[in-house]
Amino acid sequence: MKQQQNYVFKNWAKNVQSQVANYFQPETEEEIISVVKNHQKIRMVGTGHSWSGICATNEALLNLDYYNKITHIDKERKLVTVQAGIKLWQLNILLDKEGLALLNLGSIDQQSIAGAISTGTHGSGIQFQILGSQMREFSLIKADGSKQIINKEKDSALFNASVVNLGCLGVISEITLQVTDAFTLHDYTTTLPFDEVVEHLDDYLKDNDHFKLWWLPPCKDIIVFRYKRTHEKPDDSKIRVFLKDYLLSVVFYRFLVFIAKLFPFIAKSLNTMLTWNMKGPLDRIEKSYKVYIVPEPPLHRETEWTFDISRAKEILKAYKKFITENKYNLNFIQEIRFTKGDDFWLSGCYKRDALWLGLYNYAHEKWDKVLPEYEAFAKQYNGRPHWGKEFTMDKNYLHQQYEKIADFKKLKDEFDPGKKFENKFIEDLLG
Ligand SMILES: Cc1cc2nc3c(=O)[nH]c(=O)nc-3n(C[C@H](O)[C@H](O)[C@H](O)COP(=O)(O)OP(=O)(O)OC[C@H]3O[C@@H](n4cnc5c(N)ncnc54)[C@H](O)[C@@H]3O)c2cc1C
Repeated sequence: MKQQQNYVFKNWAKNVQSQVANYFQPETEEEIISVVKNHQKIRMVGTGHSWSGICATNEALLNLDYYNKITHIDKERKLVTVQAGIKLWQLNILLDKEGLALLNLGSIDQQSIAGAISTGTHGSGIQFQILGSQMREFSLIKADGSKQIINKEKDSALFNASVVNLGCLGVISEITLQVTDAFTLHDYTTTLPFDEVVEHLDDYLKDNDHFKLWWLPPCKDIIVFRYKRTHEKPDDSKIRVFLKDYLLSVVFYRFLVFIAKLFPFIAKSLNTMLTWNMKGPLDRIEKSYKVYIVPEPPLHRETEWTFDISRAKEILKAYKKFITENKYNLNFIQEIRFTKGDDFWLSGCYKRDALWLGLYNYAHEKWDKVLPEYEAFAKQYNGRPHWGKEFTMDKNYLHQQYEKIADFKKLKDEFDPGKKFENKFIEDLLG
């Protein structure tokens, strides 16, 4: 097992940092159990892609980068068991080789499977639930080092309680996922007027398997992503991928947001130019996991909240007004997504189909002002923040919106009576 003392943990966005006494990277379940048994305080980290302080600790930190294999494939039932440190991109490639695929993904594939599931990571599509809904079973190493297997059918109540677990029930060791036959998506991406999309939102949601929006404020047009399942073969060209998805969307985009950071007053013109560039349309067929994933964005700040879909039109209109009127000069894409409701206690979509509204910005000097103002907006509409993104820890509000949080705390106390897996984030939320 790899170990390091005085390790400096930094999250992906580099807005969270902590000095860790002992960093462990076990390669077997026995090693995980021994770390758990031999430490009084431990936190787990996947790839550190959370903006919130959810992983930060000064004590022991456990990472499963070297515990990342597929351990079993049942091709008939399309069940795949993986070690919890596997990254989504590794899993996608291995599944593809077997003619299989995940049913749905978020916008990037860099996260570990356990880390992504633990914060309620999601993609977009009103018929699709958060990523954790693809789990059928998982094993947890609890605070005393014992192993508990939680199965979706056999332990349904416990399963619903612990899918979104914020890393405080124990170390997830193995996960069995329900996958599907590999499939292709028809991706039709273009721009349309913001107001028109809001007006016909229900049709867009119904007519597409996956539907999401990117808005570069204050443009009157919005970038519309529509993905539909198809039986056709991939037809995307490698040259287009290199020119558009790498040179333009990664290299050139990084340069542009950097310029907009130096000269915030040009953000509006850049946003207009970028929106115009996306008019395209992009019309391609590609393997599902390649379509879901967007080119890796530059380091930036994010908050994202879910709202009840029944109020989507009203909230989207208010969101547009809020951002436009406040003239934040946001120099980054604002993402708007949709997911199906679920029964997972700490899910942003608990018992309600959801609209997800993000507020994203490249290292912007006004982030400290923008974030609380956006939070005040989101609270007016009973928003629930994404656990992996930035939000102010307003315990009363969170307990009101996440209605099963008190029950979750009881479960946590049962699984971890000595508070081994608590850090400041968990203490502030549940303490
Ligand atoms: C560029 C970027 C794009 C993103 N896109 C999306 C998106 O499209 N949709 C979305 O919903 N979110 C998105 N996110 C947020 C991200 O998916 C979540 O924050 C996710 O939790 C990060 O996964 P991770 O492996 O980095 O986990 P970490 O951030 O390292 O950890 C998250 C939580 O998981 C726990 N954990 C990790 N491993 C284990 C384990 N083995 N056992 C128990 N607990 C564990 C940690 O303790 C912590 O509580 C994005 C983030 C970034 C930086």
